[in-house]
Amino acid sequence: MKSGWAEHDAQALVARCAKSGIDHELALRIYTTRLLGRDPALVLHGGGNTSLKTRLRDRFGEEVEILRIKASGAEMAAIEAEGFPAVRLAPLRKLRGLEAIADPDLVAIERANLIDPTAPNPSVEIMLHAFLPHKFIDHTHARAVLRIIDQPDGEERSADAFGGRLAFVPYLMPGFALARKAIDIFERTRPSDGLILSKHGIVTFGENAREAYERMIEMVTLAEDFVERNGKSVAIARRASEITPIAAVAPIVRGACSQKNEKTEGAWRRLVLEFRSRAAVLDFLDRTDLGRVSEAGVATPDHTIRTKNWPLLLPRPKMGKLDDFARAAREAAGKFAARYHDYFERHNRRVGGDRRELDPLPRVALVPGLGMFGLGRTKHDAAIAADIAEEWMAVVDGAERIGRFESISEAEMFDCEYWPLEQAKLGFTTERPLAGQIVAVTGAAGAIGAATAKAFAAAGAEVALLDVDLAAAADKASALAGTALPLRCDVTDAASVQAAFEEIAARFGGVDIVVSNAGAAWQGRIGEVEEATLRQSFELNFYGHQRVAQAAVRIMQAQGTGGCLLFNVSKQAVNPGPDFGPYGVPKAALLALMRQYALDYGADGIRANAVNADRIRSGLLTREMIASRAKARGLSEKDYMSGNLLGREVTAEDVAQAFLHQALALKTTADVTTVDGGNIAAAMR
Ligand SMILES: [Zn+2]
Repeated sequence: MKSGWAEHDAQALVARCAKSGIDHELALRIYTTRLLGRDPALVLHGGGNTSLKTRLRDRFGEEVEILRIKASGAEMAAIEAEGFPAVRLAPLRKLRGLEAIADPDLVAIERANLIDPTAPNPSVEIMLHAFLPHKFIDHTHARAVLRIIDQPDGEERSADAFGGRLAFVPYLMPGFALARKAIDIFERTRPSDGLILSKHGIVTFGENAREAYERMIEMVTLAEDFVERNGKSVAIARRASEITPIAAVAPIVRGACSQKNEKTEGAWRRLVLEFRSRAAVLDFLDRTDLGRVSEAGVATPDHTIRTKNWPLLLPRPKMGKLDDFARAAREAAGKFAARYHDYFERHNRRVGGDRRELDPLPRVALVPGLGMFGLGRTKHDAAIAADIAEEWMAVVDGAERIGRFESISEAEMFDCEYWPLEQAKLGFTTERPLAGQIVAVTGAAGAIGAATAKAFAAAGAEVALLDVDLAAAADKASALAGTALPLRCDVTDAASVQAAFEEIAARFGGVDIVVSNAGAAWQGRIGEVEEATLRQSFELNFYGHQRVAQAAVRIMQAQGTGGCLLFNVSKQAVNPGPDFGPYGVPKAALLALMRQYALDYGADGIRANAVNADRIRSGLLTREMIASRAKARGLSEKDYMSGNLLGREVTAEDVAQAFLHQALALKTTADVTTVDGGNIAAAMR
């Protein structure tokens, strides 16, 4: 591993920081922390931490010694000065006299000694940094180091690889006890460069930022060389069998890894998927000892909150044998959940019975021949789980090349997974109503489609925006969360619809809600209109919806967790307007289609509903049309748009909220919600 230190960059950051009153020591602390954070072979997603001991004047003008330590869960790659809360060092050092201290007491002392009382919580590894005397301390979970120390004989291997430069600290979970043990061992052995924390990571220190950082790089390089020198190749049996494509497999995996909500009938706890199939992943999944290593546990303790302790191991999804795969997947996922529950019960009893069980669903699923899925309540969390699982594979693979991968014990993993300070890293935000759900919106670049995509994203769903105009869909997607997926989809083309839904399944794992919204208006007196015009309208305004619903239902059936089809019927379906037959007749057929889906798939938990909206500013009702119609009726545009019983203009956002309401109403199917400000002639009878 090469040092990323670039004097020019370091000085540029020092100069930039100086403008905000940040001194050069903290600036360089930020600089090397970012260098460490940007390399996934060193730290991942909030793991690892760094610190700086320095002095500052408090509000009374007194000079105090402080520890600036990375905030708990902060990302090192993008850290700023605020990511290093300053804590008075003297009271922390005093704690060394204690045999033990309860976590809440420790956190209270840390917070009471923050220079800025509004600063974020310091890293859970703060006491290790406080007790060690060095000015700069760097801590990572470096891949190459873990390969050497995640071994039954990690201590001997560590001595071989690093000599006396790093002292070896036997495993203890992160926190006060580990910090005490580490400082005792440090004082006894006086290593020159740092510490190995068994089954966990590496610490280096130095008198300046560069020294601590470059020692880290040097030690990691020693570890890399050691693995290279001592590594043997591992048997991989490439098995040639035709594998079912991801788009067909993902909904089965996602469905198997869902949990029925026992309190609310019809509700499910669902997860979003992230798929990985790099060559290294596929090779790992073809290991002859995959069964054993998949049971071996995490690579470093804090991974357990993201991936749980073990992945779900599934069989190969052989082509033409999808039903067998589905059966086996459900059985394996069921066993996983039962085993997790048992694990929780046993260890919760051991620690006094006061922990609350997390959901028992896997966060990583291994599918030999196909790839690996990360699972999470959001796409973002699923991607983090996948990143960590890939890292775990890299550590296990390297460890097995030089010996035998060994993790901490099940009890030790439980203690980390259910350590309140670890769980705090995930943040205690209230879950949004559609968390874990995936929605596809057609006609997503239009006014109603875009407003609907936005409303569903705000409700916590992952959103795919389908439109015949990809650039316009991408534009609307960019206004949403980073995970929104724009897709080109022409609903009049069966292949295009199929491809779009396959892409959604591959990207997110499946689909739960479809808002079938794409449409366009044709006019003509029904007795005189060209048949071609009518057929064209049917292609879009009826068959388009049918193709979309059919593609969605296929995925929903594979998931086996119900679903929701929402159709944009128009007022024309209920209350035809003169010369609007070519538009209204297929829309009336669409209303019947909605009812047919409600009827045929109710037993599968798939609901079908429609929104009947009228007079919305959109591509179907443009500014020019509004102006000319208002003029024809002798009305102002405002009065024309508000020409309903309530005298209120109806907006695309109102329609979006109606769709959202229908998505959330788990006991409602075959419903038409009218969003038109009141029009008695269009009222449902
Ligand atoms: Zn750590």
